[in-house]
Amino acid sequence: YELSMNSSKFINIGERTNVTGSAIFKNLIFEENYAEAVKIARQQVDAGAQIIDINMDEGLLDSIKAMTTFLNYLAVEPEISKVPFMIDSSDWKVIEAGLKCVQGKPIVNSISLKEGDKPFIEFAEYIKNYGAAVVVMAFDEEGQAETSQRKYEVCKRAYKLLTKKISFNPHDIIFDPNIFAVGTGITEHNDYAKNFFDATKMIKNDLPFAKVSGGVSNVSFSFRGNNLIREAIHSCFLFHAIKAGLDMAIINAGQISIYDQIPLDLRNAIEDVLFNKNDNSTENLIKISQNFDHKKKKKKVSKSWRKKNADERIKFSLVNGINDFVVEDTSQLLKKYKQPIKIIEGPLMDGMNVVGDLFGSGQMFLPQVVKSARVMKQSVNFLLPYMEKEKTEKRGKGKILLATVKGDVHDIGKNIVGVVLQCNNFDVIDLGVMVPAQKIIETAIKENVNIIGLSGLITPSLEEMCYVASELNKRGVKIPLLIGGATTSKIHTAIKISPNHDFGVVHVTDASKAVSTATKLLSFKSSLPFKEMIKKEYSEIRNNYFKKGKKSSKQKLSESRKNMFKIKWCNERIIKPKKLNSQLLFKVSVEEILPYIDWDPFFASWELHGKFPKILDDRLVGNSARSLWNDAQNMLQNVIDKKITQPLAILGFWPANSVGDDIEIYEDESRKKVVSKLFFLRQQMQRKNSQRANYCLADFIAPKKLEIYDYLGLFVVTAGQGIEQKASDFELKKDDYNSILLKSLGDRIAEGLAERMHEKVRKELWGYAKDEALNNQDLIKENFTGIRPAPGYPACPDHSEKQTLFNLLCAKEKISVSLTESFAMNPASSVAGYYFSNDKSSYFGVGKVNKDQVKDYASRKKISIELAEKWLGPNLSYFKKRNEE
Ligand code: SAH
Repeated sequence: YELSMNSSKFINIGERTNVTGSAIFKNLIFEENYAEAVKIARQQVDAGAQIIDINMDEGLLDSIKAMTTFLNYLAVEPEISKVPFMIDSSDWKVIEAGLKCVQGKPIVNSISLKEGDKPFIEFAEYIKNYGAAVVVMAFDEEGQAETSQRKYEVCKRAYKLLTKKISFNPHDIIFDPNIFAVGTGITEHNDYAKNFFDATKMIKNDLPFAKVSGGVSNVSFSFRGNNLIREAIHSCFLFHAIKAGLDMAIINAGQISIYDQIPLDLRNAIEDVLFNKNDNSTENLIKISQNFDHKKKKKKVSKSWRKKNADERIKFSLVNGINDFVVEDTSQLLKKYKQPIKIIEGPLMDGMNVVGDLFGSGQMFLPQVVKSARVMKQSVNFLLPYMEKEKTEKRGKGKILLATVKGDVHDIGKNIVGVVLQCNNFDVIDLGVMVPAQKIIETAIKENVNIIGLSGLITPSLEEMCYVASELNKRGVKIPLLIGGATTSKIHTAIKISPNHDFGVVHVTDASKAVSTATKLLSFKSSLPFKEMIKKEYSEIRNNYFKKGKKSSKQKLSESRKNMFKIKWCNERIIKPKKLNSQLLFKVSVEEILPYIDWDPFFASWELHGKFPKILDDRLVGNSARSLWNDAQNMLQNVIDKKITQPLAILGFWPANSVGDDIEIYEDESRKKVVSKLFFLRQQMQRKNSQRANYCLADFIAPKKLEIYDYLGLFVVTAGQGIEQKASDFELKKDDYNSILLKSLGDRIAEGLAERMHEKVRKELWGYAKDEALNNQDLIKENFTGIRPAPGYPACPDHSEKQTLFNLLCAKEKISVSLTESFAMNPASSVAGYYFSNDKSSYFGVGKVNKDQVKDYASRKKISIELAEKWLGPNLSYFKKRNEE
């Protein structure tokens, strides 16, 4: 979590784990029913909270104990503790207790100048030593700041004390300039919302890097009892506060209405109150709010928008992602505006700005944004032929080159980033997949781009990214790099990539981060300080890493081998597969695969996180998820009806035995001739005082010396060639939405096929679990006997081992799946792996390996140590500098 890098994206702070704000939570804490209380935290995270605020301030409660106990409960819930905790208390002792048990980076809520400089600085110093961020309330010796000027002055004084006196990192300062209730009937309160907006603007303008937050539900306090009105007020308030610069707010993430969907009369009435437009504002809002019965359902969108003028229609299409009328409306606009650029900079940009704001404030989600971008692109595409004559200058925010690096083929994430960047007014040059360093560099120079974004899915791509970075450096190309993709990480970026390139390297985790990072990198004002800050942060990461590295607790390979996972082989009943040593080919229909699909990763690839099917009814993302789900079903139907792709599987079983950490594959049951060897790695973590073994996949196959006949299965499955062909058709039509949708479904088809084939293997083809009866959920949880580890995954991290598997199966010839130089599979929607049948086999992670194992592994594989180090890169326990080529 990077508080500091994320300022253009709004952050939701969950408010329900607060004993003063939630009666349910309070009762659970009083009953000491922590298990249930934890569920409330989980609901908040599921509903989209990115931080949770925890408050135990209640007179009759032992708050220190409650805070400590609750935090300890949360610490063992990975789904919850992935978000930072905001320790909220007015009692310093409670905060101290909380800081002691939080693991990640905490946020203290709050300190203030209420009692003057001295205690303020003391508290801040303490917080700083914990590496925590801090919320500073706009309070001083005179009390709470109410006017905008005073809010600002108090914050400025705090800012100076923090940054000048104790060098508190300004990125870790969050001001809360007090949100007070409006519409109370008391004249003095009428300016409260406006004052907050104004103060926020001043703070953001004048106090560099500081953040602004607030507790939103206060603002609607006088409308208690009418939740519909309260939600609408919160939404309007947020809309304007975010415009003013609000970075985060404590809200009930599940309870916000969409600004654009608030009926206009109500919205106007609310905004009159928020901006204190006239003396009757409050009365008027009270009157209108009586018309809104909060039990009534929201109205459906009617077709009446088609009756509006073309400007409004195109904006509506953009915001709602409707692409049915793009050409019709754009051609009308062209008649009106004559110059295409005026349309792009007028109604199209207006619409996209609304989309950007909604996405940034967490009111709109990725699938909708990609649909909106499609409207934009198709409209621009229509205008293009009219534009060339005009010779318009580029006026975007900057040019960004995107590429999936050489050896890698995966591009869903990169494409999403490209679309979202374009929505935010960046020009994007997308070089596609498998792009060699030279091409990236040449294009970057020729096109004079401002940023280069590198993407990759598999671990060898990390090495390739280092190479691109160092080549850029060699040639003195002063363009900053964005690094993203599944196996990339901030740590790797800091340690391996960043030292190779002197002109800025930043790791980004998702599409919205890419936008804020690019914006900062290209902003005239903040680019330099931002790069400096990242540089400092990454160098700290490097220092910590090397400090830790020295006291790493790995044991010798020989020790680990002694502690291998032992199976009493004489007691094992090993089933012989029906057919040995041959490649079995299967054509499977998409229909047959459907019941085997695991949908959670599908939604996750669209940045919608949650469990299927519950996610469809989720309060926050439900509508988005459902609409995406419907589109997915239609697309799948289309894939089936039009026979767009033919999924294929190739698999086989071989006589096999283990020899040390290798598995030998034999020509036939006589086991005289070894046709191939598979090489595996063994865990080297210290296991001195533990019962656990140091695992290696070879432990799950009977050793050769026992002369017990054992077997290993191999497979490669693919969604087929049709996915990418059809996806590129969509791209030609400027339909990124359907292209990305189809590719993400291609991945599902491949994984579903892997599941389907594995079942067939267990029940028929190998037949070691004939009576198995498992449903889709059991399969997803892999509740079956045996495993199907995949090369490149934690138990067998070396991607290059795929080559052996592909050779034995003739995968290229039989099902047209090939391997790139980095051993990525092409088509991307493919899965490969081994079948182990033993009921004691299980997944594990090899973790870091020592030099002794790397040497041993290299000599077994008959490759150089350097090459072994290349393929095992992220698993090396020691630091290996990139070889200069
Ligand atoms: N239901 C998921 C399945 C893919 S993830 C989906 O549809 O996306 C689970 C797969 O990843 C396993 O079947 C196995 O092939 C691989 N895998 C998971 N953990 C592994 C490990 N530790 N080592 C090797 N392979 C692993």
